[in-house]
Amino acid sequence: MSRFFSEKYSTLEPYAPGEQPKDAQYVKLNTNESPFPPSPRAVRAAAEAAQRVQLYSDPECTALRAKLAEVCGLSSEELLITNGSDEILNFAFMAFCDESTPAAFPDITYGFYPVFAQINHVPYAEIPLREDFTVNVSDYFGLGRTIFLANPNAPTGIALRAAQIEEIVRANPDNVVVIDEAYVDFGAESCLPLVRKYDNLLVAQTFSKSRSLAGARLGFGAGNPALIRDLNTIKYSTNPYNVNSITAAMGIGVLEDEDYTHRNCAAIMDNRAYTVSSLKALGFSVTDSLSNFIFVRNERIGGEELYRKLRERGVLVRHFSKPAIRDYNRITIGSRRQMDLLLEAVSAILEETT
Ligand code: PMP
Repeated sequence: MSRFFSEKYSTLEPYAPGEQPKDAQYVKLNTNESPFPPSPRAVRAAAEAAQRVQLYSDPECTALRAKLAEVCGLSSEELLITNGSDEILNFAFMAFCDESTPAAFPDITYGFYPVFAQINHVPYAEIPLREDFTVNVSDYFGLGRTIFLANPNAPTGIALRAAQIEEIVRANPDNVVVIDEAYVDFGAESCLPLVRKYDNLLVAQTFSKSRSLAGARLGFGAGNPALIRDLNTIKYSTNPYNVNSITAAMGIGVLEDEDYTHRNCAAIMDNRAYTVSSLKALGFSVTDSLSNFIFVRNERIGGEELYRKLRERGVLVRHFSKPAIRDYNRITIGSRRQMDLLLEAVSAILEETT
């Protein structure tokens, strides 16, 4: 820390993103990226947009918002496009939380929530998951706090039904409930259809996972127009050009190729079922994941040891050192070939251990 760093950030613990190593060719299953390249339409759209980057991007993302509105069955005023969904989540902490309206989220969830809370000086409560890592819905009734729930949750992959989330939204009419649907396209139920019904529901989604645009940084929030106006106040007070024009063009290209996205999601779900049953056959317990990753443990080997041994064999997965989950590893579901390489490595490691 330099002697110039503001005192107000001196205790801030930044979010630690998964490794993006450059030293070797890994089977990369640690950051929940898609194994598939983006739609060729998106790539063509990027090349065209690149020819006009002497101009600022459209701060309203008019064309992308219109296309997204059509795909989501919403109107443009119900949408705000952001630089990844991390940005809409941060905007929500800024817009809807403060000392008098603190935040609440599960104790095991996306590690960025406490960081967003801390950087915005928002007090927060971490509500314990049940022992099986499920959310107890009634824990979230009438909290008097802004609620953040990843659905499916990370790193467990476990999802609530939309009807359960609706109960939470209904039980907190005077607070905003933010549902982070980064992984919703891999088999869970989206709350987008509820946005029209409740003025306190904000749904966040990303193009990073099912739509293969992690590196382009594109996400969005969907909610009542009044919520979206508040979030726009934050956006125009921080970075009006938050979405660059190449990325916005890619977003439209991807949305014009929904079949491609659906096929890729179906392949991931297939590979997930295959990987889950293969790992169970090797003695793993696996949470019931509806996302593009699984959360696994094996009593024969510690979480960190498995992570390390896989890394030595060129397979990267994600290990978290938090005590409640340190026996586990989170494994991204990739292509069938990647999953076979993972399974081969896991079998060899288990053989070595006995
Ligand atoms: N929410 C959850 C639960 C995530 O795991 C991630 C990915 N790290 C995000 C949001 C943010 O993704 P992005 O900013 O790429 O949209």
